[in-house]
Amino acid sequence: MATHVPPPVGEITAISHFATAAREPQPGRQLDLIREAAPGFRAWFRGTGMPDWIGTFDLVLLPYPTRFGLFRAAISPTPYLSLTHRMVVVRWREPDGKSRVLLFEPTDVELARRTPYFARLRESTPPAFERAFARPLGDVVSHLRSVGIDTGDVDWITFDHLHTQDVRRWIGTTEPAHDLSPNAPVAATLPRARLIVQRAELESLAALHPLQVPWYQAATYSSLRQDALLPIDGDVLIGPGVALLASPGHTIGNHTLVVNTETGIWASSENVIATECLTPEHSRIPGLRRYTSAWEQEVVLNANTLEDTARQYNSCVLEKSIVDVARADSRFLQFMPSSELTGSILSPGTSPTFTHSGIFHGTLTPTGAVAR
Ligand SMILES: [Zn+2]
Repeated sequence: MATHVPPPVGEITAISHFATAAREPQPGRQLDLIREAAPGFRAWFRGTGMPDWIGTFDLVLLPYPTRFGLFRAAISPTPYLSLTHRMVVVRWREPDGKSRVLLFEPTDVELARRTPYFARLRESTPPAFERAFARPLGDVVSHLRSVGIDTGDVDWITFDHLHTQDVRRWIGTTEPAHDLSPNAPVAATLPRARLIVQRAELESLAALHPLQVPWYQAATYSSLRQDALLPIDGDVLIGPGVALLASPGHTIGNHTLVVNTETGIWASSENVIATECLTPEHSRIPGLRRYTSAWEQEVVLNANTLEDTARQYNSCVLEKSIVDVARADSRFLQFMPSSELTGSILSPGTSPTFTHSGIFHGTLTPTGAVAR
């Protein structure tokens, strides 16, 4: 039996369970390798411990094309469905008692609106439509303050991928930015935070393909503080029961947050928009069960870009294979989409059968308190 001794990568450590699967070029064979590796990862990951606390915070309700979110499966004629986009905050303590804070999906909602795709959507739809569908639900800094986490307490930020993201106000720039700070570099709101990002994702920004262009704000990455970037390659353990696993497909540099909690293992990413898309045999969204059964597929992809469709399918199966079942309903898994399908009277035929609304775990103690 293989042992997995993680080599150090700065303050975080590499995970090797899925390395063989990741190298396999044939998608069918890769799927088998992922399924084979998953039980070993689960057993090992549970042994790494648990964070102290996980909280989830709503950021924005937004419209999203039904044919992207539910790919070819939904039969609803409604062109847009609703997604709630959320931030997950994870806090843990290092063995020396030092506290660590990770933000997953801390979207700067105000700047994300400038993404070419959203700008185009606003031009092509009446303002009443946008008002009805798009609603801000809170911002990153206010949410952190509401639970007593200071902006200076944040060690890491990360996103499943960089679609729509503009991180300049979080980690700062080295040059003035004409739109935010014309006379001086943009100051970092999260002064200690480093952005953990797959190297493949960061590098794709330097040479976008036409299929990628509508979804990125590449120009905003040109003068970020380099010391605030932490590029990684593949799977890493960041803290006790806190990992990022590469899950390419939606984008080539996609990764998934994986956490071990009192209810078992959870995962979160944007590979699907509802947990029932991982177990469509239990979905009551019209079309999902019939489509996946007719085509003998076990997942329904979030399909706005499809940079690598078979790879995204396999990443969804990886997520399926490592998480535990939901306590509230065993037909569904502890997979929380970072943008989760939300029922709306404007989108008949797209109401989710089951929603998580977040990952919640543990108790939040003041930063200064030392665990005994
Ligand atoms: Zn995306």
